[in-house]
Amino acid sequence: MNKTQGLVNRIIPFSSVDGPGNRLVIFLQGCNMNCINCHNPHTIGVCNFCGLCTLKCPTKAIEIYSGEPPWINFDQSLCLNCDLCLQVCPVYSNPRSRWMEIDEAVKIIQQKADFLSGITVSGGEATLQIEFVRELFVAIKDDAQLSRLTTFIDTNGTAPIYKWESLLPVLDGAMVDLKALDVGAHQSLTGRVNELILETISFLHQEGKLYEVRLLIIPDYNSSEEQIEQTVEYLSQICPQTRIRLIPYRQHGVRSEADHLQQPDEELMERIKVRFFNGGFGDTVIT
Ligand code: SF4
Ligand code: SF4
Repeated sequence: MNKTQGLVNRIIPFSSVDGPGNRLVIFLQGCNMNCINCHNPHTIGVCNFCGLCTLKCPTKAIEIYSGEPPWINFDQSLCLNCDLCLQVCPVYSNPRSRWMEIDEAVKIIQQKADFLSGITVSGGEATLQIEFVRELFVAIKDDAQLSRLTTFIDTNGTAPIYKWESLLPVLDGAMVDLKALDVGAHQSLTGRVNELILETISFLHQEGKLYEVRLLIIPDYNSSEEQIEQTVEYLSQICPQTRIRLIPYRQHGVRSEADHLQQPDEELMERIKVRFFNGGFGDTVIT
């Protein structure tokens, strides 16, 4: 029995955009960045048991129990998926997130295993719960039915190198987000500098675990010819020929702080793709 727990926002049984092949994706709750462009803002926070969502929920699907520590009980059978609880949460948490033990996660994966190429843990930021991720990947590698599945992580890259070292023996691949190479642009988008992220990209490439670098393209932030030129040059030094995924910024699902952000047009995305291609990144895709 493995009692290690992770705070899980949700599980998607099949995805074709979260790593190679058909993947089950576990989204963990909680992130250490607060990107204005975040499409899943309610994976950012961790509940402080303020109780506002319980007052708003029309079906009483959420209850908070006081204790040390307090805990939330969420009754899926009562939920209307109306998202009113998300709208009132002051910390961008999700009362439908729940603690899950490794054994339960493994059982869920086993039910879908015949149709899967692998597992991806995403977020939030998955490395904030690195022990859960590592234990889950160990359990998958040790399970006769699951050991053929590949184990991937989707990360913002801010974990220090010692955390990556602890995960390497059971990690098959990582997708790392780089919001901008320019530090000023990165700070205005995420609230943080990008030094650790660049270290992570370089380290995972050296270790043969970097599957993909993901670049979200936002006009007026990170899409100028100069920035793209510098990004291609820099990445060709630290992770040459890595697969690059260019993601056009879309307004769907983001918070009102992002109303001023523009969506890139197809022509701009194609131009950036060609620049990466010519810079030696032959496996560059736009999603
Ligand atoms: S989404 Fe579900 S839990 Fe949230 S307010 Fe609506 S019914 Fe209640
Ligand atoms: S999920 Fe948000 S609104 Fe609900 S109790 Fe937790 S912090 Fe408060």
